[in-house]
Amino acid sequence: MVIYIKFGCNAIRRIPEMNEWTYSDFYLERGGNLHPFDYAKPTSLAEARTLLAQTAADGVVLAGGSDVLRRIEEEVIRPQVLIDIKGLPELRGISFSVHGGLSLGATTTISALAAHNDVRRHYSLLVKASHQLGSLRIRNRATVGGNICVALPQTDLPPALLCYDATCHLLGPEGERTVPLSECYKGTRQTALEPGELLVRVTLPAPAAYSYGAYHTVRQGGQTTVVGAAVLARRASGPSTEWRIALAAAAPYPLRAYEAETHLASAEPGAAMVEKAAELAMRAAQPADDIRASARYRRSMVGVLVRRGIEEVIEQLSGRGR
Ligand SMILES: Cc1cc2nc3c(=O)[nH]c(=O)nc-3n(C[C@H](O)[C@H](O)[C@H](O)COP(=O)(O)OP(=O)(O)OC[C@H]3O[C@@H](n4cnc5c(N)ncnc54)[C@H](O)[C@@H]3O)c2cc1C
Repeated sequence: MVIYIKFGCNAIRRIPEMNEWTYSDFYLERGGNLHPFDYAKPTSLAEARTLLAQTAADGVVLAGGSDVLRRIEEEVIRPQVLIDIKGLPELRGISFSVHGGLSLGATTTISALAAHNDVRRHYSLLVKASHQLGSLRIRNRATVGGNICVALPQTDLPPALLCYDATCHLLGPEGERTVPLSECYKGTRQTALEPGELLVRVTLPAPAAYSYGAYHTVRQGGQTTVVGAAVLARRASGPSTEWRIALAAAAPYPLRAYEAETHLASAEPGAAMVEKAAELAMRAAQPADDIRASARYRRSMVGVLVRRGIEEVIEQLSGRGR
């Protein structure tokens, strides 16, 4: 069987004589500028672990490929081996229980996440963020794990995941460990994953009795997030409300605005509370100046988007949104 992978104007072909379970060579079919690399598609987690351990320095994990393949095409990275994790059953699927919470396999696509009934019912902020992510074509390919591990400031899902206190489950040569998503980012394109480690799944605690979230962004050309803010409020049984605020494209990586959250939880409700929280979120932001926007613009939009999010949430909570 010959497998073609197409991206951009290039296509690469898998040479058929190689065994499914071991590396296969890829050759450029047309287009002419890709360096050759090996391709591996492990079918068990044990096999993936071995491969990752063997190729830690030269191997690159391939999930949906919406980022990796573009970087290979642009020669930003030149992997020796591409390790395709989409065949691993342990990385697939979404499970939910009222008391246990939500578990998202790392290779869950953004489209599958947004269409899942329990996610829509109990974690609707994830759905709102998913709907903003790229085009339908991208959402059908891009995975939850890829959107986290790519570790770009402008990614859309992590702010919502941060609001839900998500935890990353990593598997590496030393076994499995968990890291809160808030501690997973070390810089742009830098995560807490050690070489040879794989993000297996992401878990979210059980949903609150009532919660409502808002995600507002400024986008460029309807695509890339120039700046974004996720706001979530949740109530257990009593009247007290817990707040979460997380920002996109406002720092080298997705970021929680802790001081703004604390302020909302303790301040007297009213316009001054909202203003102060927006100001604290602006202070937490460490935005970059780049081709899409200036740092000054981003910081000021953090204030606007956080204010808009809080106002939407307050309005909805008074009518018991979810
Ligand atoms: C046209 C276009 C529009 C886009 N628009 C948006 C947008 O609006 N919002 C947005 O957030 N993103 C956007 N993206 C970026 C991209 O689609 C997302 O970041 C996507 O979620 C990446 O997921 P993936 O599965 O395709 O990752 P891949 O490209 O397969 O991998 C991304 C990175 O994560 C690593 N990785 C993936 N999975 C794992 C794992 N389980 N364990 C360890 N490492 C792993 C890979 O090695 C690689 O370094 C866009 C991309 C394109 C091409």
